[in-house]
Amino acid sequence: MGVGSPEDIVEAVARGIDLFDCVLPTRMARNHAALTRKGRLNLRNARFAKDPRPIEGGCTCYTCMSFSRAYLRHLIVAQEILAATLLSIHNLHMLITLMMDLREAIATGTLDRFVEAFRMNYHKHRPKGI
Ligand SMILES: [Zn+2]
Repeated sequence: MGVGSPEDIVEAVARGIDLFDCVLPTRMARNHAALTRKGRLNLRNARFAKDPRPIEGGCTCYTCMSFSRAYLRHLIVAQEILAATLLSIHNLHMLITLMMDLREAIATGTLDRFVEAFRMNYHKHRPKGI
């Protein structure tokens, strides 16, 4: 309960926790943040003003399949509530697929490798963002 960030979920699963309930994905969305496998993005940041990429390349959520970072930033700057809805869709999808991948890693006996790869990828991109 109260554990909802990707990095905390991965660490908790590695320690045997398998139940999570947290407002973080929607709260982050209301505060303009997108959760990704490489770290968090604050889409209000001016550097996204002309960014044609989806929030996270390879993500199959409705938001990433339909809208650019630049459009999402436009919605945020215009104070459109749709921005929070679209970011919530992405953040929830990201955590659901992360959990699916964690379950698969447990089933195939590769959890240790998955956790190490996640840590390397997540922290590698954390200092300067993605
Ligand atoms: Zn997405």
